[in-house]
Order: sequence, then structure tokens, then C-alpha cells
Amino acid sequence: MLALFRGAFGTGMGEILLHNTLSNRKEALQPLHPGEVRMYTCGPTVYDFAHIGNFRTFVFQDILRRFLISRGYRLNHVMNLTDVDDRIIQNAAAAGVSIREYTEKYVNAFLEDMAALNIEKPEKIVRATDHIPDMVDLIQKLQGKTYTYDSEGSIYYRISKFPEYGKLSKIDMSGIQAGARVDVDQYEKADARDFALWKSPKPGEHFWETPIGKGRPGWHIECSAMAMKYLGETLDIHTGGVDLAFPHHENEIAQSEAATGKPFVKIWLHAEHLMVEGEKMSKSLGNFYTLRDLFKKGYKPSTIRFLLLSVPYRRQLNFTVDGLRQASSSVERLRNFVSRLASEKFPVGETPAMAGLVRGAEEAFEKGLEDDLNTAQALAAVFDLVRDVNTAIDRGDFRQEDAPGALAALQRFDRVLAVLTDDDDAKLRALGFGSKEAGMSDADIEALVTARQDARRKRDFKRADEIRQQLADNGIILEDTRDGGIRWKRK
Ligand code: AMP
Ligand code: ZN
Repeated sequence: MLALFRGAFGTGMGEILLHNTLSNRKEALQPLHPGEVRMYTCGPTVYDFAHIGNFRTFVFQDILRRFLISRGYRLNHVMNLTDVDDRIIQNAAAAGVSIREYTEKYVNAFLEDMAALNIEKPEKIVRATDHIPDMVDLIQKLQGKTYTYDSEGSIYYRISKFPEYGKLSKIDMSGIQAGARVDVDQYEKADARDFALWKSPKPGEHFWETPIGKGRPGWHIECSAMAMKYLGETLDIHTGGVDLAFPHHENEIAQSEAATGKPFVKIWLHAEHLMVEGEKMSKSLGNFYTLRDLFKKGYKPSTIRFLLLSVPYRRQLNFTVDGLRQASSSVERLRNFVSRLASEKFPVGETPAMAGLVRGAEEAFEKGLEDDLNTAQALAAVFDLVRDVNTAIDRGDFRQEDAPGALAALQRFDRVLAVLTDDDDAKLRALGFGSKEAGMSDADIEALVTARQDARRKRDFKRADEIRQQLADNGIILEDTRDGGIRWKRK
């Protein structure tokens, strides 16, 4: 059986299994065009800064694309920017600027944030407002096939014409009564389930003059139009957060498949949410951090990337300060390990066991990612290797000729993880952060508090007192909490 699973891209590598929301099981990736993966990612709505919940989903798709590239695939990856919606129109009007002027700032911020998190740029990043004619064409195609109806100048998709509606999210639409609202728009519809393809302008609102009338596109049509324009009628992979499966992705399927008569997407991947105290991190709940909020507190880009990738994408990720702290020390551990391997002098020669150990770690890493991008398993392989090699070095069982193989493995891991390069400070400075003028950052303080607790545990009271003094010199007071922990505050 195992022999069957040997992929085309190197010996010992298995097929890549991905959990398809549509079939609700893991499926082997088999791109339609051999060697090339065509993938679409729903990008941000650029009416504000993205929060780190959004970036959980974007880091997940980055792990996917880096992994596929590392396995020899060519990627044709498209991400959209939703640069027209109700909020954008309202905010731009309130600020007295054009939609383009209003969104430009947030588009740039998003691209900067992506770069800070080492999220590779998809091959194409496309804006909705640059594709109005493509959307109009698609709507006309749907009109020609009688999937639409008009109401008060808007154009709706008639869901009752598409019996497969709900096949992705497995939602039971029968319970949704006329009058109940599924979509967020506020227009008259024949059926509550129907959604707008084209919205007529309210008085004073921005609109496009097109062959289907004055107005602007609904949200869902942009993704169908842009995905098919650049990737063809059937894509290999479509990604997004779980909240997009219904209604957004159901609607994309309904639009695209009704227009072409072909399957729209082979594999749908949905990332679970980043949570804060049991609730989804979201703008509307107000429980969110932007990347810049965390940079201001002194957290590094690599720490945040590591935290976001450390939990496999189909599991919810609970966001905590403790998680950030652990992520920071994990990255430090990896970087220290690499610099130890690169700079320390080991006894000459090589040890027979070491090559096997490294190969075992590499295989376990690949196996983890092959299994629906199980990053936790892949990271376990990395840290097992770090521990075993460190132990071997300390015991004198590691030789100079062993170092290049171990270093190469770490570089291989980092093609997907992308946390090893020590460029956090440079990135933060470029974004205008990282100055220490405001005193110690939260992250620095927490690192010292943890170091002090470690010292106390090891009964190194001299070191513990030194740290307390260092904190006090910076105006930080430590207090014992009732449950035996430590709390800090600024004087
Ligand atoms: P939006 O800008 O709201 O369209 O969201 C951009 C992407 O972030 C979508 O794929 C959402 O599903 C995803 N997203 C939103 N909130 C979260 C969250 N708390 N955790 C993970 N992904 C999220
Ligand atoms: Zn979309």
C-alpha cells in the first residue's frame, strides 16, 4: 500500500492529503493540470486593518502554498481584495474621498502586514473594482440561463433553480423561511435565501454604469468572476475561513456551476477560527488585535507567525499571552540551535547515527504536513531533532561533519515555517515600531518574569533577585497572586 503512495516529487514522500469540506473527508491532491496547482483565496475586505484572526487564515494558506512549492508544484494562486461593500462605500463617502482613495491605505497596510508575517504574495492579488466588467459578463450569463430575477433595480440569484445549494456547508435550507434574512443586504427578494448579484444604488451612493444597469456588485459574484477569469472554470483548491463556507462559498458554487455546468472547485479548505476567551476574534465583537497592536506591545512578527501556524488549521486556536510567550521562546530555541550548529566547533569526523536521526526528522516533518497540513506533528519532528542533537552535542556525540546535514534539514523545514531569519527588528523598524523610548515592551517584561520564575524554580535566587531589580529599574513592580502566580504592573 505504502508503495502506491510514493509521490512524483522525490523518494519517500507520500501523497498530500487535504480535508475537503465538500466531501467531508481527506482527499489526495491531484491537480487538474499535472505539476501545477490553481488555487484561490478569499482575501480581506479592505475597510480597516486586518486583525490577527484574519491572519490565522492567511498564514494557513501560506503554509499550504509554501509546502506545495517545496514539493515541486508550480502555484497559480489568486487572492482578491474586496474593495467595495456597504461599509467601504459609507466610510469613503463620510470621509469625502473616492473608494480607491479610501481603500488604498488598508490595501497597503495589508500588504505590509503580509510581508511582516513572511506570507508570500500570491501570484496575483486582484481588486474587485478592477473587475466590474467580468462580473457583469457572469451575471449576464446567469440571466441568459434564467437563474436571476430583477427587483427594484437589483438582480438576484434564484436559489430554488440550483437544487445542489447547500452541498458545501451541508446547511438545511428548508428551515429558512421567507422573511428571515440570510444575507446582509436590505433589498426586496422573492425568497429569503436568494442573494444579490447586483445592487441598485441608494440615493447619493457610488455606482457603476453597466449594460445590466446602474449599481454595484454583490460580494459573492466578485470571487466567482475573478477565480474563473484567472484560474479556469474548475480550480484545484479554494481556501477561506470557516465563516465563509456559508453563505459566501455556497453562493460562489451556485453562481459558477450554474454558469459553466462544471464543478467549480475540486478541494475546498476552511481554516478554523482564532478565538479569544471562547469567542471568535472579530471586529464586531471588539475582541481583536491588529498585527500593529501586537507590534506596539513589543511582540515580534516571527512570534506571531509561529503562534498562528502552530495549531493545525482545522482546530480552533485560542489566543493568549501565554501562547505568544511560548511561541517566542520556540522561535528563539530554533534560532539558537541554528547558530549553535553554524558557529560551534565540534570534534572532527561524523557519527553514523546522526544522518539517520536527521533523515527520520525530515520524514516525520513531511508526513505531518502530508496529513492535511498537520503543523503540530511537523513541529514535533523539528523540536525532537533539536532536543536530540542538543543532547548529542552535550554528550560529545556530535561531530563536525554532522553539522551540514542537520543545518540543511532546518533550512528545509524553514522553507515552510519561515521563522528562522532573524529580521524581526529590521521589519519592525521599517514599520515604525521597535523603539524602546516608551520603556520596556510587554513582551520583554513577560520574558523577564518567566526567566525569573525559572530561576526561582531552579533555586537560583541570586539570578531571580537580579531580574527583579532589573524590572524595578524599568519601573515594573511584581506582585504575587493568590493562585501562586506573578502579576506585573508599571509604576
Ligand atoms: P474578511 O476581511 O472579514 O472578509 O476576512 C478575511 C478572512 O479572514 C476570511 O477568510 C475570514 O474567514 C477570515 N477570518 C475572519 N475572522 C477570523 C478568525 N477569528 N479566525 C480565523 N479566520 C478569520
Ligand atoms: Zn470570496
